[in-house]
Amino acid sequence: MAEIAVYKSEVKPDWCPGCGDFGVLTAVAKSASELNLDPKDILVVSGIGCSSNFPGFFNSYGFHGIHGRSIPIATGAKLSNHDLNVVVTGGDGDGYGIGIGHFIHAMRRNLNITYIVMNNGTYGLTTGQTSPTSERGYKTKSTPQGSIENPINPIPLSLISGATYVARGFSGDPSGMSNLITKGIDHKGFSLIDVFSPCVTYNKVNTYDFYRERTYKLLDTDHDPSNFNNAVEKSFELDEKIPIGLFYQKNSPTYEDEEPVLKSGSLLNRKKSNLDSSIALEEFY
Ligand code: SF4
Repeated sequence: MAEIAVYKSEVKPDWCPGCGDFGVLTAVAKSASELNLDPKDILVVSGIGCSSNFPGFFNSYGFHGIHGRSIPIATGAKLSNHDLNVVVTGGDGDGYGIGIGHFIHAMRRNLNITYIVMNNGTYGLTTGQTSPTSERGYKTKSTPQGSIENPINPIPLSLISGATYVARGFSGDPSGMSNLITKGIDHKGFSLIDVFSPCVTYNKVNTYDFYRERTYKLLDTDHDPSNFNNAVEKSFELDEKIPIGLFYQKNSPTYEDEEPVLKSGSLLNRKKSNLDSSIALEEFY
């Protein structure tokens, strides 16, 4: 097991004190340590937002991309180097707003990447506007009368889109969250870990106490993560009681396993002359 300190960046996080994203940063480091991953074998990719500053605070390869485009960047990296542990980090605005198309297509392809969404129900970086997961009635400077839009529920969305590992964590439960991230990175296929990660500065509704009062662990129930229908049913519990933990997991071939050119190995390991030649491409097919 690698020392957790190995993953500590020289750059100190500039998140507000108490931000839920601190818990996620610690949890990812703990998971990488448990999996004994060398920093050179990890790539963290992000988009734009408070949580998307993550790669700067984590010692590994990193790519701070553009808004909503973290998954295309991660896709290219993973398909080029199958051995890389590709972890995408970002917020609900980045992933479930502008990036939602990429999110859905990555899931239906079952790309072997891990997506951690720090879901705080608000746009924190731009000083608190309504986001895709904000609750109806949520008042911000962009919705002074309260939001009239229904929030996105990422758990059923990911289940019906083909994700093969679907989990929800909570920054107030760092050890449970770390277990979910460890299993998610270890999972072969697309893994989503949606994390309730409170924005202590702008979201005064979805606070740590809000989630502490409502969340319960699927692990403490008889929930069977191999049962798709039960996972869908559980994913709609969002009122008085909200489940956290592993909703669903199944083994299924990844995109890299089935794509005719890529299934014989990473592009990284091919000779450039082979890739340039149409004759060589015919050989692949
Ligand atoms: Fe975290 Fe909110 Fe501060 Fe951004 S504004 S760092 S999300 S607490």
